[in-house]
Amino acid sequence: MSEIVTIQDVKTIVTQPAGSRLVIVKIITSEPGLYGLGCATFTQRFHAVRTAIEKHLKPFVMGRDVDRIEEIWQMSMINGYWRNGPVLNNAISGVDQALWDIKGKRAGMPVYQLLGGKCREAADTYAHANGRDKYEVVDSVRHFMAQDYRHIRVQMGGYGGQSESIQKPDGAPDGAYYHPREYCRRMCDMIEHVRAEIGPEIELLHDIHERLRPIDAIQFAKDVEPFKLFFLEDALAPEDNAYFHHMRAQCATPLAMGELFNHPHEWMPLIQERLIDFIRMHVSQMGGITPARNVAAYANMYNVRTAWHGPGDTSPVGHAANLHLDLWAPNFGIQEWCRFNDLVYDMFPGLPEVRQGYMYPNDNPGLGIDIDEDLAAKYPPEDEIIQWTQTRAPDGSPMRP
Ligand code: MG
Repeated sequence: MSEIVTIQDVKTIVTQPAGSRLVIVKIITSEPGLYGLGCATFTQRFHAVRTAIEKHLKPFVMGRDVDRIEEIWQMSMINGYWRNGPVLNNAISGVDQALWDIKGKRAGMPVYQLLGGKCREAADTYAHANGRDKYEVVDSVRHFMAQDYRHIRVQMGGYGGQSESIQKPDGAPDGAYYHPREYCRRMCDMIEHVRAEIGPEIELLHDIHERLRPIDAIQFAKDVEPFKLFFLEDALAPEDNAYFHHMRAQCATPLAMGELFNHPHEWMPLIQERLIDFIRMHVSQMGGITPARNVAAYANMYNVRTAWHGPGDTSPVGHAANLHLDLWAPNFGIQEWCRFNDLVYDMFPGLPEVRQGYMYPNDNPGLGIDIDEDLAAKYPPEDEIIQWTQTRAPDGSPMRP
């Protein structure tokens, strides 16, 4: 029997090459040269995640057998007694993904092989089109069509739109203002226009980003039904999960949900009661590959597909983890893709490549991705009070971002 390989060090690397603060865990093992990487990126609260890893998780996992991924995940989750929160889940994910990376390297196999092997050669992705008005959105969509993307998310003025006519009360504080009902009118008009301009073949997606009151979101899902979206994302906030019953009963717009989810009780009823069509957690936010694999398998029994969260605040390591899940999952639906710049590709050798809208693995053992730590150190994270999440209704009251 071969000698047990153990965890000898847990490093937390925080870097900001392109806007988002990325948190990467690097596990060093007792086998010379063998290490693994994991994503623990909660960009808005990266200090808290780093502290959770360095002060709580690292002492807990030091010296443990790297092969015991499941046991380490289960014990890491219950050891703090209070559990299923975003900081701890991300910290656990960093360790979990790094251990999957290590297991793949030890086996000489990509992680998708450990999950059960490929169901497909590449993961179909969607890109983000945006514009200040509906004409610019069409131009942006055509730009991605020219690159052979088959799925394109359409937004106008970013999340919440750019309101044309907000009348604030005197003394209203600064903030990211938007008008929920104006948003409904303008976005529905934009989606209708884009569909009319580009025809029926291209799959269109839209992200409400939980910015509407439930009854307005239900009306919106009905209003866009004729335009045959591939999915409508985060139509409701997790706090309003129960309203999915009403939305589902009233229209056949496909629904995608879940980037904010922390706790199994948030996604289990939606899958079990067949209230959504795509489950799309931020894989580090739910605790890593181990729970994502379980949720994918669970969702598969209900014919709910995966669409893991994949914008710029999922690290390149997290994108690699998404891809391995995508290649394996029988119920893979679509992969969100943010198109990193050259600096990020230099910093993370092995970052998956996308050609004609398909994301391909490199087939190296493990997650197939590395980090240039010297380069990462040249882009330290900057502290800031985040503005875009200080969202407000026209009268100045706080709204969910
Ligand atoms: Mg989203």
